[in-house]
Amino acid sequence: MGDNMNKAKNVILYCISLNAILSFVVLFAFAGEQHQHKFAELYSAKSTCTEKGFTVYSCDCGESYKGNYTDALGHIFSNDVVCFRKSTCIQKGEGGRYCKRCYAKTDIVYYSKTSHTPVYVTVKATAKKNGERRKECSICKKLYSKTVIPKISSIKLDKKIYVYVGRVKTPSVTVKDANGKKLKKDKDYSLVYQKGRKKTGVYSVNVTFKGNYEGTKTLFFKIRPTAVKNITASPSISSVYLSWDKSKGADGYEIYLKNKKLKLIKDTENLYCTLGKIDGKKLKSGTDYVFVIKSYKKTEKGKIYSTSVSKKVSTKPQKASIGKVKSVNGNLTVTSVKQNCHGYEFLLSTNKSFSNPKRVSVKAEKSTSYTFKSVTKGKKYYLKVRAYVVSGGEKYYGYYSDVKTVKT
Ligand SMILES: [Zn+2]
Ligand SMILES: [Zn+2]
Ligand SMILES: [Zn+2]
Repeated sequence: MGDNMNKAKNVILYCISLNAILSFVVLFAFAGEQHQHKFAELYSAKSTCTEKGFTVYSCDCGESYKGNYTDALGHIFSNDVVCFRKSTCIQKGEGGRYCKRCYAKTDIVYYSKTSHTPVYVTVKATAKKNGERRKECSICKKLYSKTVIPKISSIKLDKKIYVYVGRVKTPSVTVKDANGKKLKKDKDYSLVYQKGRKKTGVYSVNVTFKGNYEGTKTLFFKIRPTAVKNITASPSISSVYLSWDKSKGADGYEIYLKNKKLKLIKDTENLYCTLGKIDGKKLKSGTDYVFVIKSYKKTEKGKIYSTSVSKKVSTKPQKASIGKVKSVNGNLTVTSVKQNCHGYEFLLSTNKSFSNPKRVSVKAEKSTSYTFKSVTKGKKYYLKVRAYVVSGGEKYYGYYSDVKTVKT
């Protein structure tokens, strides 16, 4: 019983202290006075077409209320029906009357879709890609038709190399598409030729595409000097002297030795040259050489060459010398020491001065000796020999050997 009494006592004490704290807080907040709201206009909203206007009042404590309502204004619709959105082929158009204040719409009407607006669209062809020509609706892109414009596949000059003649050269241009059809000048492309085109040189032709095509291309052609003409060769034993006529449009000449390959051995502005040494070595006697001459014109882009002309030349043979001499039964056989040449000429005379001798030529590929028949026995004969080459249709002889005297 005493326990319960104590419990009750504690609860009461607790309630009293809680009340004291609360009173304290209220006392502090309102300084002990009762609160009087002071409402002031916080903000106001004007009436719109559809909403009432009002004012909001509030007190510093946070309390607030709406009041001072004004009626909604109602719409002011236009008299005339106007178009809000035009019809297209994709969407219906819309019209109606509208509120002049808030633009609210009323009496909405719809207009039917328009038909398509077909236009032609061209995607130009280039050298890399096909183009196309489409008929399509400009709004919804509905496709009516499509044709491919085949790409440009070849752009060529009818002639890329001319030989100088002192006249202006204008090669024509042929352009074909991927189907092999020729494109038309001035309609599909235009041409600009480099100026001049008369002297030796390299010239450009600019092709600019237009119409259904686009892109540019530069083509080149050249005018080369005329080939070397009338080459004459004068051989000696260890060198060759060459001369030739001036090539038109040229300012220099290159001379090559032709073996398996061409080897450049001379570069000259003259119309002649002496070919004495090749790689530091003299030319061999009685030997066939083929020289090639090209004329050229120097330009900023390098030399422009004529076509090649070759000339076969044989150097003169060395002085000959007699090897064996045999006299048997009225036959006198003379053998020359072998050397580089095309043949040997054997001379037999009964006098020392070789007036009116017997003179016989033998090709080197056949023999190095010759037999004079029916010589008179017991008589004194004089022999000499010389080697020869045939070059440019002419025979060139080496020096005679020393004279050999034979008694048969
Ligand atoms: Zn208040
Ligand atoms: Zn309105
Ligand atoms: Zn359309």
